[in-house]
Amino acid sequence: MTTSTPDRLLIRDAHVFAADDAGTQWPCADILIEAGRIAAIGPGLAVEGPIGRVIEAKGMLAIPGLINAHFHSPGNLMRGMLDGLPLEIFMLYEVPPLAAGVPVGHLNYVRTLLGAAEMLRLGITSVMDDAFHVPVASAEGIDGIARAYRDIGMRARLAIDQPNVVEYEKYPFLHDLLTPAMRAAMESAPRQTDEELLALYAHLVSTWDGAGDGRIGAALSCSAPQRVTLPYFVGLSELSERHDLPFNCHILESKLQRVLGEEKYGRSLVRYVHDLGHLDARMVVIHAIWIDEDDMALLARSGATVAHNPLCNLRLGSGVMPFRALADAGVPIALGTDEATVDDTVNLWGVIKQAGLVHTLSDDEYERWPAAPEILSCLWRGGARALRWPDIGHLTVGAKADIALLDLDTYAFTPLNDLRRQLVYCESGSSVRMTIAAGRVVFEDGRVTTIDEAALRAEARALMAGYRQSLGPALEEARRLEPAYRAMVARAHARDVGLRRRLTG
Ligand SMILES: [Zn+2]
Repeated sequence: MTTSTPDRLLIRDAHVFAADDAGTQWPCADILIEAGRIAAIGPGLAVEGPIGRVIEAKGMLAIPGLINAHFHSPGNLMRGMLDGLPLEIFMLYEVPPLAAGVPVGHLNYVRTLLGAAEMLRLGITSVMDDAFHVPVASAEGIDGIARAYRDIGMRARLAIDQPNVVEYEKYPFLHDLLTPAMRAAMESAPRQTDEELLALYAHLVSTWDGAGDGRIGAALSCSAPQRVTLPYFVGLSELSERHDLPFNCHILESKLQRVLGEEKYGRSLVRYVHDLGHLDARMVVIHAIWIDEDDMALLARSGATVAHNPLCNLRLGSGVMPFRALADAGVPIALGTDEATVDDTVNLWGVIKQAGLVHTLSDDEYERWPAAPEILSCLWRGGARALRWPDIGHLTVGAKADIALLDLDTYAFTPLNDLRRQLVYCESGSSVRMTIAAGRVVFEDGRVTTIDEAALRAEARALMAGYRQSLGPALEEARRLEPAYRAMVARAHARDVGLRRRLTG
């Protein structure tokens, strides 16, 4: 009689790309999975004892599940909603400063599932979700997001991205460009105290860090240093240290933020965070486009990881991150989709390809352009580092069993000339046939196995109707505010900050 061992899986005869330090590739090898981890891997494994399921993978490529190092699930309902806009004007509509509250628990659950399902279909098994809440964060809203990742079977770190200063304090020049009535409206908009937000973090860490058999983890987020009070920023950094959790921080995404640093702190925002004593190896510095040489040296010394989101940066015209200079300085780089409002597909494959292409614009020396292995290293090694989960991003004994199986009998891999280049430049995600997260098959035969996808999409469409209506007045307000923001952006863009990150200077 055979004992049932559903958590023991054998993948047989796959072409394996291990993404390990040695660059191991086997044209034909087996992977034994036990209790969510890789128990053995290599050609012709002799496996004893009962197996829950044997997956015949001849003609398939096994790679580590992809790691999306920067993402905001609240954008999931907003794909295609906006044209390309400069960050500061985009955010007026993304997170309207005068928005009223909407019921969040179920909305957040459905909205998060929508992006998670799309990611699992594409072989993305891990995500850092820097989730924002409009206008205020709540335990119910946080729980909705965390439950979604737990239920669908994805690995996720979840942060609370919640600014808590008055809207005009986040920007240079804006205060003086607004009418007194607009300023008053911003001052009376709902805002949470440091204590309220730290209490929500206590809830997030105690309820969700380590939940779902360790698949769900907490992370910290200040959104950006200029968007929160200083005591709250310090409190977040201390929490990050106490629990050894990633600390997400958008820094120098736009030229305007470079100008803000000069105006408000008399220095670059990277240096500002460094001088506070909180630029460290747990920090995930998101975007880092308008950084200078001094910033790069500080980042390198700190051990922080930079999350690079080239598609989002193009969509918002933010500029091109100095990839080669950062990498040469020794700064680890991870890749992210950012959010469905600015990378409208949640498809990390597009980001991988874009990261492999866009940096040719910044360097005349072709030897300095990133090559495919470097981009893949950002994806897996950089991603694992950003999430502070060293057991993901490689197929080695003891690693988490997060695996994507791709069909090699597709146009992307025909003929097979160079696997790594074809992963970066040819694959769109359409070759993914199976996704395994924490040793469980979560996508196969064209279906996410853990939810009813058709019902999910129908519910998302239905919820969106009400959501759109509830956002209506806030978007109307945003349109009234836009001329002031446009004047602010123009004023910042006119300044010479001594850096060029866009072709127009
Ligand atoms: Zn972001």
